[in-house]
Amino acid sequence: MLVTAGPTRERIDPVRYLSNDSSGLMGFAIAEAARAAGHEVVLVAGPVELATPRGVKRVDVESAREMLAAVREEFEGCEALFMAAAVCDFRPARRLGGKWRKKDVGQERASLELVSNPDILKSVTRRKGDRLVVGFALETGDGLRRAMEKLNEKRMDYVVLNGPSALNAAKTTVTILGRDGSRRRLSDRTKRAVAKVLVGLRSG
Ligand code: C5P
Repeated sequence: MLVTAGPTRERIDPVRYLSNDSSGLMGFAIAEAARAAGHEVVLVAGPVELATPRGVKRVDVESAREMLAAVREEFEGCEALFMAAAVCDFRPARRLGGKWRKKDVGQERASLELVSNPDILKSVTRRKGDRLVVGFALETGDGLRRAMEKLNEKRMDYVVLNGPSALNAAKTTVTILGRDGSRRRLSDRTKRAVAKVLVGLRSG
């Protein structure tokens, strides 16, 4: 089973980056649960402060493009992909070789040009085969509709809908939406408990 976890980090210059609040807890819990269920597990982790679950092969990455390369490498040989990483949608158009100094950009305002990162799920699910693919959707507004759109667009079997309160928290409330129309809500559960349910899902 292939699992991604944590944020990605998109470098601006040697000492600054864009990122998000993902702690990696959900992905690490999935990796641990998958291992406990007897699977061989590869965990592709963004920069997080978490110990590697016992018996899990960990591949550390920083940026979305590095995560894409690592996932591509492992996808072919996996039976299931759990894409729990909070991948940055954009990265700086240029990475500066030296520190971005205030005097280079004027006094009161500065702007940073961003470009889209590749979509990791979309890229690998072109050759999905009968692998189980589970992704996440963190939504603030009309979550259900957007999560279903992502499920279709990214060719997932299930999408795990959660809210911003899940970020960096031990407990979470999720709705697991299936391509088969199924819907299961898990309220105020530990990420460990949610991970156990996810690892037990089967592709339709
Ligand atoms: O960011 P978004 O809400 O679109 O993320 C939905 C799913 O897509 C998540 O499982 C996330 O890991 C994945 N994703 C991805 N590549 C990206 C952005 C998100 O695989 N560039």
